[in-house]
Amino acid sequence: MLRTCLVGLCLLVPAVQAQEVAEIPEPVRTTVQQLIERGLDDEVGYHFVRDLTTEVGPRLAGSEAEARARRWSTQKLAELGFKEVRTEDFEIPFWARQVDRARIVSPTQQNLVITALGGSTSTPVGGVEAEILRFESMAELRAASADIVSGKLVFIDEKMTRTQDGSGYGMAVRKRRNCATVTSEKGGVACLIRSVGTQARRFAHTGMMARGKAVGDGVAVALSPPDAEQITRLLTKGPVRLHLDVQVETREKAPSGNVIAEIKGRENPEEIVLIGCHLDSWDLGTGAVDDGAGCGIVVGAAHLIKSLGTAPRRTIRVVLYGSEEVGLLGGRYYAQRHADNLDNHVFAAESDFGAGKIWRFQTRFGEGALPYARAIQQVLAPLGISPGNNQAFGGPDISMLPRSGVPVVTPRQNGWDYFDLHHTPDDTFDKIDHDDFNQNVAAYATFTYLAAEMGWDFRKTVN
Ligand SMILES: [Zn+2]
Repeated sequence: MLRTCLVGLCLLVPAVQAQEVAEIPEPVRTTVQQLIERGLDDEVGYHFVRDLTTEVGPRLAGSEAEARARRWSTQKLAELGFKEVRTEDFEIPFWARQVDRARIVSPTQQNLVITALGGSTSTPVGGVEAEILRFESMAELRAASADIVSGKLVFIDEKMTRTQDGSGYGMAVRKRRNCATVTSEKGGVACLIRSVGTQARRFAHTGMMARGKAVGDGVAVALSPPDAEQITRLLTKGPVRLHLDVQVETREKAPSGNVIAEIKGRENPEEIVLIGCHLDSWDLGTGAVDDGAGCGIVVGAAHLIKSLGTAPRRTIRVVLYGSEEVGLLGGRYYAQRHADNLDNHVFAAESDFGAGKIWRFQTRFGEGALPYARAIQQVLAPLGISPGNNQAFGGPDISMLPRSGVPVVTPRQNGWDYFDLHHTPDDTFDKIDHDDFNQNVAAYATFTYLAAEMGWDFRKTVN
């Protein structure tokens, strides 16, 4: 406290302390400057996502294509000169769509654009026909009595809000996760939801409906937005009947795995700076923004650091997680397999929000490590990145690491159009803006290098 005296009146006021910023020595600053310049011009990361999405294509968790993506990535990472390139294999329950189609049978006849949600069960062979019952929201369905839901095709017409930070998703995704369960409990035939997404075109957004298991509690599909609106208009005229046919394939066990590559640290190789992404994708598009882009960003960034010629003090570990889309299974497996060694994980980040520019840098460090956060934030400022709070969640596959004390960061990307593409047939390579993508590569190279070179303790609790 300071004593301030003003016209004879003395008050005790808190001292305003300048926020401490850790020092970065000149040679490190020079290297970081190089990384930023080269990152903004990089081709390695961009080619990684281009070639992954072209040569492998869609990469459904547990599928032969996901296995091919692991082989493709390990070969590519070895060619790029990374060390300790390997896969850590695990098994997952498998789900794949075979048939998903719907049509209005009365009062008009029209094919609808739908997609089965991951984990949907099958209808009887040949499909089912029933009357639609529309709800404005998941809450309205929950409040409805079983008498009126029984025997009906439940339709939840809840919309999602577009935001820069993607915060509309958390709300909107509840109907995808819960619709089939609540519908089944009330004796409904199947559940249709308005797609969880922000675009208005005629395609549908898939995504996992079951939680912690491969198959959910009933049949669930998503409608394209124009189809949701068509049904809503028809319902104002009278009853609407649909024919719905969903057939899926499930297996108890299928192979999946995480792909790992490293730059061995020159002084403290046992200390790990982890940067990750997920290699699997949904099956409708080629998984370019979700999450081929993230893999290109972390591979491109790590490759830039490797190209400096001298390894940083700590080890940089790149992890391309498998089976994220079906329940963060790769992330959970990693946390379990490396449980004994998480104390040596000094820093973790994951890129899984497309290829939009990073606009804010959040951390989750010990209170005593905030001067390090500020130092990194200052270095990132010329890339148009503002300082964020100390409540980062990391990313989906590393979200379980903070529980074990691992410091994480979230470089927040502009997600204004992310949910136009997310889990749709429109998630393809052409949507990635090269300049925005490279701003990510430059930022990841910068903070990853600083985390690996400076030897800072991001767990530090007090100054
Ligand atoms: Zn993703």
